Amino acid sequence: MSDCIFCKMVTGDIPCRKVYEDDQVLAFHDIAPKAPVHVLVIPKVHVASLYELDEVSTPYAHAMISKAPEIAKELGLAEGFRLVANTGEACGQTVHHLHFHILGKFNDSGDTGFPGEND
Ligand code: 5GP
Ligand code: ZN
Repeated sequence: MSDCIFCKMVTGDIPCRKVYEDDQVLAFHDIAPKAPVHVLVIPKVHVASLYELDEVSTPYAHAMISKAPEIAKELGLAEGFRLVANTGEACGQTVHHLHFHILGKFNDSGDTGFPGEND
């Protein structure tokens, strides 16, 4: 998708702090971290959210899930991590290219800053 910032990260047109890449998945540091470790995992095909997964994109979502624990361990999160997919603007999705947040090493409150989470 030509106007999608995450598609532009896949093509290299927008730079990112890459932590992992294979033929299906790209992972990079979030530009505005909400925890001491905050990485985004995205599929290398454009799909807007979990709602739009189809026959082509579902295998990419499976790859994102199966790679997340490996990526988390590489980031020093062997003791635990949180995997979040804000889905739809009503639940805080601001970038409309599917992504999983890997979050870890929280402070004592465990607050991620996502809307509604600590209400
Ligand atoms: P959402 O709110 O859609 O669940 O998450 C989008 C995430 O993308 C946010 O945490 C935001 O900080 C991150 N983000 C937005 N623009 C950029 C960017 O240009 N580069 C990086 N690395 N992260 C971005
Ligand atoms: Zn995209």
